[in-house]
Amino acid sequence: VAKESTQLSAWYSDAQEASRLSHLSLLSDLRAAVQNDELQMWLQPKIRFNDHSCYGFEALVRWQHPQRGFISPAEFIPFAERTGYINHVTDWMLKQALQTLASWQHAYPQLSIAVNVSTKDLRDQSFPERVHQLLQQYQVKPENLQLELTESGIMENPGNAIPLLQSLRNIGIGLSIDDFGTGHSSLAYLQKLPVTELKIDRSFVINIDQQASTQRLVKTIIEMGHGLNLHVIAEGIETEAERDTLISLGCDSMQGYFASKPLHGAGLQNWLIHLADS
Ligand code: C2E
Ligand code: CA
Ligand code: CA
Ligand code: CA
Repeated sequence: VAKESTQLSAWYSDAQEASRLSHLSLLSDLRAAVQNDELQMWLQPKIRFNDHSCYGFEALVRWQHPQRGFISPAEFIPFAERTGYINHVTDWMLKQALQTLASWQHAYPQLSIAVNVSTKDLRDQSFPERVHQLLQQYQVKPENLQLELTESGIMENPGNAIPLLQSLRNIGIGLSIDDFGTGHSSLAYLQKLPVTELKIDRSFVINIDQQASTQRLVKTIIEMGHGLNLHVIAEGIETEAERDTLISLGCDSMQGYFASKPLHGAGLQNWLIHLADS
């Protein structure tokens, strides 16, 4: 506790005392949430355009706080990153994903789960070894696991990130560049990244059917991705018109509310049952 308190006071000025105190209690709450399994893993389907099949899911963390109610990951993930607690959250999500994949091994061996990895995780040279160890512990094939790394996170320190990505790729895990188009990666670097998927950021998808210039840009991104042998998926597709436009531009797959919101519990079970039907 003492170590984390010191770390936190370095982050917040006196003027932010109130916020600091509330963040201190948030940190102990987050620690409790991880320990008591108060977090939840929700899964959002990824759908291939060519055969309309669901080939996997993105894992999204949810936190239902006993007093504060639902806390969005957009709020607590950056907080967890600042306080250095993010690696525990990543570890928790990896275990959840692997446990789920292990339980699907017979009924749904084709499905993959993609776990979001933070920039902070990429600084930890032992991260690939940790993932490898967990895969063995849960007896899951590496090709069923995918990791999503943001373009800006990779580009923050490509010299560190690239060898680490290579180690993960050598294990056989799929690697996706998340939020693509927002992180200023140069073409020279893109070619060096040992990744398997490119995920077009939602900011390009919103109303793409009405924007000719965005369509030209996204078409170029898709062609470039294919030129590098990458699977190209678009995130945040909400309408039929957005989906149809992305199909016409040659995109491979989609994720978004139009296909399905993130699922959990009965909603997820229902989705899986229908998968078996089709
Ligand atoms: P992201 O990785 O870009 O995840 C996509 C976000 O868009 C998710 O929000 C998802 O619920 C939302 N979304 C999906 N389809 C649609 C759509 O059609 N329309 C709209 N408006 N939104 C859509 P969420 O779950 O609130 O997560 C927000 C961000 O928090 C994520 O962005 C990711 O950066 C981070 N995050 C979430 N879970 C994790 C996690 O387990 N670990 C880490 N490190 N970050 C996470
Ligand atoms: Ca993501
Ligand atoms: Ca994303
Ligand atoms: Ca995004």
